[in-house]
Amino acid sequence: MSKIGQGTAGASQPRASKQPCSPRVLRVALLGSTGSIGLQALDVVRNNADVVQVVALAAHSNAQALVAQAHEFAVAHLVLGDEQQRSNPAFLQLPAGSSVDFGTQALAALCELPDVDMVLNAVVGAAGLRASHATLKAGRRLALANKESLVVGGELLMPLASTETLLPVDSEHSALYQCLLGEKSSEVSRIWITASGGPFRGFSRAQLARVTREQTLAHPTWRMGPKITVDSATLMNKGLEVIEAHHLFACPYDTIRPVIHPQSCIHSMVEFVDGSVKAHLGVTDMRIPIQFALSYPHRWAAPLAPLDFSALGALTFEPPDGATFGCLRLALEAGAQGGTLPAVLNAANEVAVAAFLHDACGFLDIERTVEAVLACHNRQPVESLEQLEQTDAWARTAARESLKASAL
Ligand code: NDP
Ligand code: MG
Repeated sequence: MSKIGQGTAGASQPRASKQPCSPRVLRVALLGSTGSIGLQALDVVRNNADVVQVVALAAHSNAQALVAQAHEFAVAHLVLGDEQQRSNPAFLQLPAGSSVDFGTQALAALCELPDVDMVLNAVVGAAGLRASHATLKAGRRLALANKESLVVGGELLMPLASTETLLPVDSEHSALYQCLLGEKSSEVSRIWITASGGPFRGFSRAQLARVTREQTLAHPTWRMGPKITVDSATLMNKGLEVIEAHHLFACPYDTIRPVIHPQSCIHSMVEFVDGSVKAHLGVTDMRIPIQFALSYPHRWAAPLAPLDFSALGALTFEPPDGATFGCLRLALEAGAQGGTLPAVLNAANEVAVAAFLHDACGFLDIERTVEAVLACHNRQPVESLEQLEQTDAWARTAARESLKASAL
């Protein structure tokens, strides 16, 4: 991707007009269609059916929901990542003309179909990396919610991308992308990434040691899938987002500052060399950044209640507590060292978060596991997808062993 601020759409673009990105309808492959982002993306498609068409859908194992979506949106190409679902009876009810395939290769192959203009990758975890890579390699536009793709494989993906082909969906990065439109990278001094602070803001380590799964899943401002909700509570999510911003906008780590902003009203900010700061504000509804990634370089009207400044009250800010929330510190360190370390951080975190969600470990065991696995890894420069997948597999095994050892 080109550097900060090389986007072309500026203030002169039409504001509320509904024009497709090309004269014809935008044909989208939606990966992760049964999840939180996937369902919200389908809502955006329902509201804009005259300009967007879903031509491919993919999920992991929820065959029934996938088939129902195929009926509603008349989708021809379906993929389930989970090969065990081949004989799922839900596939006896496929719409006429639809077909289904299974596995990781099939997921990547969807991104290369000739009738796909854009891939919206809303898969959770490193499982989304190969599809992101295939999309950019095939020269298709990638609307990216799957931040793990960039955390793990940013060094492989970014040389394949440009400002016009990689559109972030993560709300902070969509905000930054929009603040940077029309700006010069040399005139940017800092990037401020806002964080709600999660449900445990202000907690001590002793309090964190006792938090439950249910408390962790009760996020104060956003409704999201379980993995990112846990990541938001540990602040790992903010660490992953700093790495994501580093790759997307080619900015050095010492210019990216996470800041706690509990109201989640400012989605992120860009500071310029003259002291000016551009902030992106809006209601906390992921359909806005999802829609922006589809409508760019235009904006479409959205049927959402706008931000009411007269009812907003105070907006507050505070530094993140990296001493208490160690996952943030670990992510920033792994990001700054780079190479294969972010892939190890991510894989160990995915395993530990899954264990926490199954009540198989405590909240602070997530951080402990990630730290233990990182400590055993010999950092290598990133070379290939295969190398990253092997590193990911190694880190998952190491994380499981670490969790097992601490449970004894
Ligand atoms: P969910 O857990 O709600 O949904 C995940 C989706 O990915 C499901 O459709 C799931 O299918 C599918 N999936 C999982 N593994 C595979 C696989 N191997 N192959 C194909 N599909 C797979 O997650 P979210 O929607 O919350 O998050 C998705 C991504 O977006 C994450 O990277 C997250 O960090 C990012 N994001 C999410 C935000 C949110 O508000 N939710 C905000 C910003 C970023 P199935 O249902 O069958 O398991
Ligand atoms: Mg985010």
